[in-house]
Amino acid sequence: MDTEVYDVVILGAGLAGLGMGMRLKMAGEDSFVILEKEDRVGGTWRDNSYPGASCDVQSHLYWFSFDEQPDWSRVFAMQPEIQTNIERLVARRGLNHHIRLGAEVTEAVWSEDAGQWVITTVTGEQLRARAFVTAWGQLNRPSFKGIEGREHFDGVSFHSARWRHDVDLAGKRVASIGNGASAVQFIPEVAEVAEHLTVFQRTPNYVVPRQDRPYTEEERRMFLDDPARLQESRDGYYWEHEGWIGAMKLESNPVAEEFTRVAREHLETQVPDPQLREKLWPSYPIGCKRLLIADTFYPALTRENVELVTDHIERIEAQGVRTADGRLHEMDVIIYATGFETLSFMGHVDIVGRSPRSWPPRAGDGVSLRDAWREAPEAYLGMTVSGFPNLFILYGPNTNLGHNSIIAMLECQFDYVLKALSAGREKTAALDLRPEVLERYNSGLQEELRATSFAGSCNSWYKTPDGRITNNWSGSVEEYRQRTAALDLADYDLVPVGD
Ligand code: NAP
Repeated sequence: MDTEVYDVVILGAGLAGLGMGMRLKMAGEDSFVILEKEDRVGGTWRDNSYPGASCDVQSHLYWFSFDEQPDWSRVFAMQPEIQTNIERLVARRGLNHHIRLGAEVTEAVWSEDAGQWVITTVTGEQLRARAFVTAWGQLNRPSFKGIEGREHFDGVSFHSARWRHDVDLAGKRVASIGNGASAVQFIPEVAEVAEHLTVFQRTPNYVVPRQDRPYTEEERRMFLDDPARLQESRDGYYWEHEGWIGAMKLESNPVAEEFTRVAREHLETQVPDPQLREKLWPSYPIGCKRLLIADTFYPALTRENVELVTDHIERIEAQGVRTADGRLHEMDVIIYATGFETLSFMGHVDIVGRSPRSWPPRAGDGVSLRDAWREAPEAYLGMTVSGFPNLFILYGPNTNLGHNSIIAMLECQFDYVLKALSAGREKTAALDLRPEVLERYNSGLQEELRATSFAGSCNSWYKTPDGRITNNWSGSVEEYRQRTAALDLADYDLVPVGD
């Protein structure tokens, strides 16, 4: 089999991988391929098709600033509209012939001799590239951690990100295990059709109003006709979200207090029963876990056919869910809204970095990213790791946000990667981060994170069981933008590569 050679190989055709591809094209770069393991683009928006799925960030802000997509049907777009627009973007931007579907990457090995990454897919196909950009997302491997006995259940069960649209929930006894950002969106929809819905809650969340609405025909026309109005809308949302940063700080401050007040008012307005309210009110600082934005979740919990259970889940049995009080909750369907494995970052891909070796390279010769990240995943600005030249990670460690659009973070990353690629081309070298830069960066970052609400007294997908925050950025998007605005070549060793 011939080995194909590209300048850049991108792993993943979600918004991060597609955005990177688009920016490469805009920079006049044509030698790149996007490898996608599934048979459709879209990443999280392809996977999460559960009823009610929509974005928690306003559509005008949850889209690339460098792409024209002025027409959205409502303030917060629903999943089908986002997925459609992603597919349209691929066609409009001519990305189709750069994308290879069903091409799951299993291994990427840096060859010092060739000055290239050698990337292998599940079919055994090999590609070589000067740079390897991973866009594997933080939220795509379903987690069932701590749930015993799933295999014993006689009914139907599935994860929220693998929704079984063939299962009719009408007239069924349904369980939702979990009450996070995914669950609060489908619970109102399921409650409408199920005979009975039991929501198993381990930890309550802060919920604030969503204030969604369809755009009027006049508004849609205005955004189509006048790019300045769209930009104005986008900027308005962006700065509003940047202002939320106080809710991500541990120290008491007016923003966090205001969010707590709004969440309390929302609860009191929507839930009349004081006992139910008590179960739903968190005891940790706001922002510690993901802040939820939902108008229909609390009302769903007040329905006759919905029960909120806060007893610990002991195990799953053939008939249903056994809780610690000994009660068996009989079910026909169990929906696991139990989140994702968020701490490993690289999924099942073996990434092997530098070591002196001869061609062809073999996995196991060099340092593996898995080993480098044994204690915790870390990357300079979330993107580069010492010992892995020209490996660029998008939405990598410590780049998630609690307060603003991830698209804004990705755009900073695209710019940085483009700078790195052009500096490398100019110097005929691959960029390998100096270890002391990563060390210095990380100790500063972890220090800053200690002052954030993510470090508060709660469990969350942002951190390891021993409390190290691996997923979230410590500050505002503007701070990240400033940190990533310039690429300092002194941060990198230049590994000579051939022309
Ligand atoms: P999640 O936030 O990790 O929530 C998982 C839920 O399952 C939590 O309620 C968790 O309880 C519960 N759980 C997990 N294991 C359990 C166990 N063994 N026993 C009982 N309960 C258990 O997952 P998610 O709701 O899928 O959301 C993940 C992230 O995706 C969000 O934070 C957000 O960033 C993103 N998201 C965004 C949107 C949007 O934009 N609209 C929508 C959905 C998701 P604990 O709280 O106690 O851990």
